[in-house]
Amino acid sequence: MNHTNVIAIDGPSGSGKSTIAKKLAQRLGTLYIDTGAMFRALAYSAHSNNIDIHDESAMKEYISDIKIQYQTSDGALIKINGKDLSEEIREHHVSKLASIISGIPCVRQFLLDFQRDLAKDRPCVMEGRDIGTVVFPTAFIKFFVTASIEVRAKRRLDQLNENGENSVDLDQLIKDVKKRDEKDTSREVAPLKVADDAQLIDTSSMDIESVLTKLVDLVKKKASELNVAIGMDESLNKSL
Ligand code: C5P
Repeated sequence: MNHTNVIAIDGPSGSGKSTIAKKLAQRLGTLYIDTGAMFRALAYSAHSNNIDIHDESAMKEYISDIKIQYQTSDGALIKINGKDLSEEIREHHVSKLASIISGIPCVRQFLLDFQRDLAKDRPCVMEGRDIGTVVFPTAFIKFFVTASIEVRAKRRLDQLNENGENSVDLDQLIKDVKKRDEKDTSREVAPLKVADDAQLIDTSSMDIESVLTKLVDLVKKKASELNVAIGMDESLNKSL
């Protein structure tokens, strides 16, 4: 089955893929699905509940009893057991926690089911690390968005500063980005890699608007080749 409703965007952290995916979804009128937010929320929530997030069986038990909600009717991006975690998940230390649980097979399976269900029959732009390779290998169109390590670390620094977090410097972030890349690309389950049929987009020297224009054109071209319609529901993405 071809998933003509799914636009898959993968790439490493700081590549600009979240901003691009969000804006692309708004431009096309499709739902925006940030799978990183799910890993972050699950990691944050388990950690706050004193679960050993390195321990697969502890995590298995934890996820067997939780309720996860994405883009809720009251405008929250993500909730676990009814608690809105949309802000907490952006704290710097949560990146590391998310990266740890992302290597645990039962966690990936749990979120894979959730992500597939969320996108069922709904046009969406879904972004993450394994969307085009594992979650929706038959996605309508796939992009792999990347940028140099230095550019990605600088973007992350700007983002943290914008959120009022000034405790980390650029050198530390370059190290963190390298470490996360290494973990994401070398893990056994669903590693970060470019799908064979993905289009590679290097954003190192491109601004958001040019990337966006390029992606919208590519999506429209593909849609017209396949004779399918995409999105166009402006009421979506209330919480963005
Ligand atoms: O995209 P973001 O930086 O918010 O993701 C946080 C972490 O969650 C990533 O470093 C990665 O380890 C994990 N992740 C993943 N698969 C996804 C999305 C995120 O492994 N589809």
